[in-house]
Amino acid sequence: MSDFPKNLIQADDLNSEHLKLIFDKAKYFEDNFTNTIQNGEHFPDLKGRTVALAFFENSTRTRNSFELAAKRLSSDVLNFSANQSSLAKGESIADTIRTIDAMMVDIYVVRNQYNGTPAFIASITNNIVVNAGDGKHEHPTQAILDAYTILKHYGKVDGLNVSIIGDIINSRVARSNITMLRTLGADVKLFGPGTLLPRHLNCWNAPIHDNINDAIEWSDVIILLRIQNERMDSGLLPSISEYVKFYQINVANFAKKDKIILLHPGPVNYGVELEHNASKLHNSMIDRQVTNGVFTRMAVLSLLANR
Ligand code: ASP
Repeated sequence: MSDFPKNLIQADDLNSEHLKLIFDKAKYFEDNFTNTIQNGEHFPDLKGRTVALAFFENSTRTRNSFELAAKRLSSDVLNFSANQSSLAKGESIADTIRTIDAMMVDIYVVRNQYNGTPAFIASITNNIVVNAGDGKHEHPTQAILDAYTILKHYGKVDGLNVSIIGDIINSRVARSNITMLRTLGADVKLFGPGTLLPRHLNCWNAPIHDNINDAIEWSDVIILLRIQNERMDSGLLPSISEYVKFYQINVANFAKKDKIILLHPGPVNYGVELEHNASKLHNSMIDRQVTNGVFTRMAVLSLLANR
């Protein structure tokens, strides 16, 4: 048994060696995609296992990419959605997990609107738990796919300047990325309206840019975030037109710099944090992030299941 963690709940569960294993494995799956999946075969890593996708909150990219990842590794997949289950009749999460445990699953991939649900599930099951996004807390596999995307583009993460811009305070993507990018040696700065930045900045010790042009100028990578309306307390956002004026990435400001790439975890509020045409620039990685999400989640599932 290696020292690879049993569960993936948050970014600091992984050190730089674990991350290197994940990136190497993702690259292996990517390099062998044509002669395996496109040849009608599957990778054997999860043969005989069952992955339960327990999504208590909506998702397009994460749920679908975990499902594809599990299937491409030969796993059975159980799709469990909260509003079609007995949770909607008032059954507790603990009883729900006990019921699914009794069906002999091996891995839970959990998304929930409340911070801490994946950790709670990990405390009541012997099975493997992967956090696919919990409330405002963490989204570690998003940070992994972001880092893999950066690594593929620059050949390194160490020493790069990365700005995370937008609704930082409500973003689990920001939390996971700040931790993981630092584990990999990147320098991280933040930018956004004062009301959407963390109040206790010293806990991350991340400097704040003064304006969007400075942020672009300093950065090798920009990770842009969505305004999380569903997690927003009222009054935190200036008007949308003001937000666009001061915080938007658009062709006019982004195309000024050559050596820079743009990431966004999706879904994008086009016309708010990002101008649609800017998403089509050659250095926008948004579609590549989605592709890389499947390979990196395959790597995570394989390494957790075969530790
Ligand atoms: N898809 C990401 C998440 O689930 C980002 C977002 O929703 O804005 O956190």
